[in-house]
Amino acid sequence: MAEAAKNFRENAGCGGHGGPSLSLEEARARMLAGIAPVDGSQSVAVRDALGRILAENVVSRVDVPSHRNSAMDGYALAGEALPAEGERGFEVVGTSWAGRPFEGAVGPGQCVRIMTGASVPEGADTVIMQEQVSREGDTAVIGAGHRPGDNVRPAGEDLRSGETAVAAGTYVRPAQLGLIASLGVSEVRVRRRPRVAFFSTGDELKSVGEPLEEGQIYDSNRYTLFGMLTRLGLDVIDMGVVRDRPEELEAAFTEAARRADAIITSGGVSVGEADFVTDTLDKLGEIGFWTVAMKPGRPIAFGRIGEAWFFGLPGNPVSVMATFYQLVQPALQRLAGIESPDPPLLVAARTATRLRKRPGRLEFQRGVLTRQPDGSYVVESTGHQGSGILRSMAEANCFIVLEQDRGRVEAGEEVHVQPFQGFA
Ligand code: AMP
Ligand code: MG
Repeated sequence: MAEAAKNFRENAGCGGHGGPSLSLEEARARMLAGIAPVDGSQSVAVRDALGRILAENVVSRVDVPSHRNSAMDGYALAGEALPAEGERGFEVVGTSWAGRPFEGAVGPGQCVRIMTGASVPEGADTVIMQEQVSREGDTAVIGAGHRPGDNVRPAGEDLRSGETAVAAGTYVRPAQLGLIASLGVSEVRVRRRPRVAFFSTGDELKSVGEPLEEGQIYDSNRYTLFGMLTRLGLDVIDMGVVRDRPEELEAAFTEAARRADAIITSGGVSVGEADFVTDTLDKLGEIGFWTVAMKPGRPIAFGRIGEAWFFGLPGNPVSVMATFYQLVQPALQRLAGIESPDPPLLVAARTATRLRKRPGRLEFQRGVLTRQPDGSYVVESTGHQGSGILRSMAEANCFIVLEQDRGRVEAGEEVHVQPFQGFA
């Protein structure tokens, strides 16, 4: 741990409060620099690997496909016998079905009827599509214009025996499930899911189902966090609401660090009178307090308590989501074992509305992206962009990402957007 803490201090620029703003990119790079995948893996049936991260390379023990086979329904023959001009008849001596090969060899002047996926028989190296052949009794008549080797898939075309089919650190999607199955592999080793504990901080917060008193609000951050963490395939531990009291925060941090690989809190990281998260962290662990030049979501605490990583997000509901997607998600993906989390997709679009913006911070405004009949993309603001307006997230289907130095954007200008589809 001492070593990890030291690395962390060096990489994350920790230990100091305040300081100049970090760019989002810089903050992301610093977070990722220190994080290594959780220990532990388990062997699971192929289907159960969906959405998990491979802990080991999956190596092919066979050629895929295992045999030279036809890519078409047609006729298999020796390519050297194809006519250069005019046409030529070949005697049809049998049929090769997928899974039921033609046992003999194809001799000179002969061909074999063949189905897609069927073994190409000895003596043949070319398949002519059925639609390009005319049958006259037992003779297949073939014209010019074909090339030897056409429509034959060589053995091992997809994968050769000994090759890595899917690398350790890969997030398993349906394509990987299929590829693994195509090797005949029935079980794979996946990483343990990281355990993530999360709680909200704030004296004003009530949980759903309780009546609200004057000045209180319902805790929504635990719900967005639950959703975002669950979609990432993590094991979540909901620790409820913690009051703005240092002793209570200390107890919660200590318990969370004992139970989880990562801890996420919301609220209490600003410089208000009741903002104790940063101080508590300073006391219990290794803490960086960062001012990230993004909007929404400027103050963020990042650090370690014992073996657990700590992410202290702002309290405003939109800030929680924006900072989670931009910073915490890649960090948790790395923790889960994904070597290089994909950067969010960026799409160019024209804005249909004027966008208010002052230079200084990278902004994530909420927008609705639509595809126009001419194939171009247009984005429209969801309206009021306050960081407390969670409706702006619910109605949006993308972030409108406005560069740090950019000022007001007029209707018709080009902007970049991040579709929410990219976020699990
Ligand atoms: P804070 O960062 O604690 O000063 O909180 C900033 C704003 O976000 C305040 O208006 C809080 O009431 C609000 N807020 C904090 N936590 C939550 C939460 N869990 N759910 C909804 N709003 C919250
Ligand atoms: Mg608060």
